[in-house]
Amino acid sequence: TKKVGSDIEIAREAKMKPIREVAAKLGIQEEHLLPFGHTKAKISMDYIKSLKGQKDGKLILVTAINPTPAGEGKTTTTVGLGDGLNRIGKKAIICLREPSLGPCFGVKGGAAGGGYAQVVPMEDINLHFTGDFHAIGTAHNLLSALIDNHIYWGNELGFDSRRITWRRVMDMNDRALRQINNSLGGVSNGFPREDGFDITVASEIMAIFCLSTDLADLTKRLGNIIVGYTRDKKAIYARDLKADGAMTVLLKDAVAPNLVQTLENNPAFIHGGPFANIAHGCNSVIATTTALKLADYVVTEAGFGADLGAEKFFDIKCRKAGLKPAAAVIVATIRALKMHGGVAKEDLGKENVEAVKKGGANLARHIENVGKFGVPAVVAINRFVADTDAELAAVRQLCAELGSEAIECNHWAHGSAGIEELANTVVKLADKGSDFKPLYPDDMPLWDKVRTIAQNLYGAQGIIADKAVRDRFAEFEKAGFGHYPVCMAKTQYSFSTDPNLKGAPANHVVPVREIRLSAGAEFVVVICGEIMTMPGLPRVPSANHIRLNDKLEVEGLF
Ligand code: ADP
Ligand code: MG
Repeated sequence: TKKVGSDIEIAREAKMKPIREVAAKLGIQEEHLLPFGHTKAKISMDYIKSLKGQKDGKLILVTAINPTPAGEGKTTTTVGLGDGLNRIGKKAIICLREPSLGPCFGVKGGAAGGGYAQVVPMEDINLHFTGDFHAIGTAHNLLSALIDNHIYWGNELGFDSRRITWRRVMDMNDRALRQINNSLGGVSNGFPREDGFDITVASEIMAIFCLSTDLADLTKRLGNIIVGYTRDKKAIYARDLKADGAMTVLLKDAVAPNLVQTLENNPAFIHGGPFANIAHGCNSVIATTTALKLADYVVTEAGFGADLGAEKFFDIKCRKAGLKPAAAVIVATIRALKMHGGVAKEDLGKENVEAVKKGGANLARHIENVGKFGVPAVVAINRFVADTDAELAAVRQLCAELGSEAIECNHWAHGSAGIEELANTVVKLADKGSDFKPLYPDDMPLWDKVRTIAQNLYGAQGIIADKAVRDRFAEFEKAGFGHYPVCMAKTQYSFSTDPNLKGAPANHVVPVREIRLSAGAEFVVVICGEIMTMPGLPRVPSANHIRLNDKLEVEGLF
């Protein structure tokens, strides 16, 4: 077998087609494209509107076991499966999130797939792309500026400067900005107060952007953002500052989905990229619903493991957008299963069937969990070079015992040719139809929603919280937000709130530390553990190795 090059080396050799040819495959004429160069384009919103009457294709979710430092490959598998479906003659589109710049220059690791299952142009997608994140960051910071300006000119709305919840954002990892004092330097600079920065993907505007169904819905949600409170704790909304109109103007072009292609020239929508902790972690509703009009099968990824990513995809995105997922693919790797079975990272290269079986408990619970949403699931074993046949057989047997099926996938090494079996199985499952239903009804009280998730999906005994936190639940109910879904924010590494508890921990207790209202995004964020909204850079950031070579190609990106 030939050696697989680095992601960027493979991406550089891609034979990309002009984007109008990729669009033509979907029946989109050139006049409906807003091209950014030759290999990227936005799809016009008027054209999207004209698709309204068309029949929807089938939606397939790619999710995974709890991540480990060993890596799982959800994006890689989403891209591979899209190519695999096209290979077996199906009309398929993939829908992914846009990468954030922060991680690009921080920890090595791409967000455009890997090996022979990637989306291209890889450097563009990972860097500024079509400027959507710039637009989102600018809309966010406009609102921040309007708040301080309002206070400067007399504070008619009565902001309590200690209770302003709207911070500032930028798309970079910069721990120095987490907590700052603003408006320093004298009378003409305003009233000093505590403030801080989050990374752009953590902005509520990003979540709103990804959940909006059209521009009117976007404007309504932007107006509903709560930016702070008065001294007697009355909420102040973005619409009170008359900010929603101008923010919409900044976002009007960004809301159109971006079309690119895979290494095999199949269509990919890459649009929006909310954090998977304080937000729901999936690409935009507009991109997904458009893709469903244009293709028979749409493959999309949700962030983190199925306990967080799939749950929020089902309970927030699908519930809100009225989507009915037809099937789910749960990605697992032998390496990650071994880590869940107690093997240290250094020892992953050695065959260890027992550890695979033991770590299989993690996979088993995710299979069971996805079943609770009425969505049929198949397991994709994303094969790494060092995996042995005995280890693969152990996963197959485990899945068979659960009435599921595990399929070996070699898309990373071989592209679509390595994932035909999964593609065929997914078609079979998706065509049978699902009985999708969210885990809890809208009218269940917020506290019970959290408990339902913890007990049914995390294997927890129950949830606990201090009185102050329980009072906040009651406040939100009383203020009329009780029908919102909850957006769980906890560690992605475990079913519990302890990142070190691998496998399938049971009978643990989930402590709720804080809840926050995202009134524009229309969910309540439930924080169980430390949540980072502005990452820092590591001791040796990957920025140290990123440069242009003699041919003006980007080196060191991945
Ligand atoms: P996720 O979406 O789950 O975070 P990605 O698909 O982005 O994971 O993959 C993370 C990294 O792992 C990528 O750099 C990719 O090249 C690598 N990777 C994925 N699958 C394989 C595989 N089968 N063998 C080797 N490396 C892989
Ligand atoms: Mg990913």
